[in-house]
Amino acid sequence: PSVPALEALQHADVARLLPVPTGESDKYRRGVVGVVAGSARYPGAAVLAVAGALRGGAGAVRYVGPGVEAVLARFPETLVHEGSPSAAGRVQSWVVGPGLGDGSWATAAVADVLASDVPVLVDADGLRLLDVETLRGRSARAATATTLLTPHAGEAAALLGIPREDVEAGRLDAVRELAARYGATVLLKGSTTLVADPDAGVPVRVNPTGTPWLATAGSGDVLSGLAGSLLATGLPPRDAGSVAAYLHGLAARLAARGAPVAADDVAAWLPEAWRNVVG
Ligand code: AMP
Ligand code: MG
Repeated sequence: PSVPALEALQHADVARLLPVPTGESDKYRRGVVGVVAGSARYPGAAVLAVAGALRGGAGAVRYVGPGVEAVLARFPETLVHEGSPSAAGRVQSWVVGPGLGDGSWATAAVADVLASDVPVLVDADGLRLLDVETLRGRSARAATATTLLTPHAGEAAALLGIPREDVEAGRLDAVRELAARYGATVLLKGSTTLVADPDAGVPVRVNPTGTPWLATAGSGDVLSGLAGSLLATGLPPRDAGSVAAYLHGLAARLAARGAPVAADDVAAWLPEAWRNVVG
């Protein structure tokens, strides 16, 4: 039997997939997200990724990186750490890359996170520090060592070694090719966000909630944290990525109502998007 190439994510799917805490929940069961993001040049990326993770339902967020002061100033509830991510204590998922740069600390931190057996989301600068062997090694090591890559078209083009226009002209082919080549789930951002699994037999998910108001600096960083919090609850990467894209688009629409929004507003409206789905 032939499998459809595409599958639109619908409101009812999101309502079913969203992890709602129960009476037995505690912060560890709800999921601890580790965020490795930000740099002296881009401290805000760390703040926005942490915002996405906290507003996305994480039980706790551990932040590891050079933006401790900026993160604590906005989110005193964050657990902060210095040194290498793996020394920070237990997490149920890692989000690595937003605003991280490509210095020696960043390079080592990405490798350290990818050596773990928990789900890892790699975005932005983290995507420039990947190699195929490492990602394939993860999926061979443990079933829980899933990887979710979240490139925009330019980052996808760099990963594939082709011009950006070629990605734009063939987004479905590009996302499938990336997933197959890297052995990872890939969320290709853009006006319609696509999520592909490495298994070619699984339909590519299409998110219908995007809005051009999302085309604003930092909105991708919020998405990373949000998807990371869903990964931490145990949702598989294809579900975590597509549900995150859905809530992210909905939050932007609710925040914008036809007018500009900043990335920070999108994070602030995530709870309202959540309410809209489960309420
Ligand atoms: P980034 O490029 O990492 O900052 O992420 C940008 C975010 O905005 C992603 O979630 C994109 O899917 C979204 N986005 C960018 N442009 C558009 C657009 N024209 N329509 C809908 N969503 C968009
Ligand atoms: Mg980005």
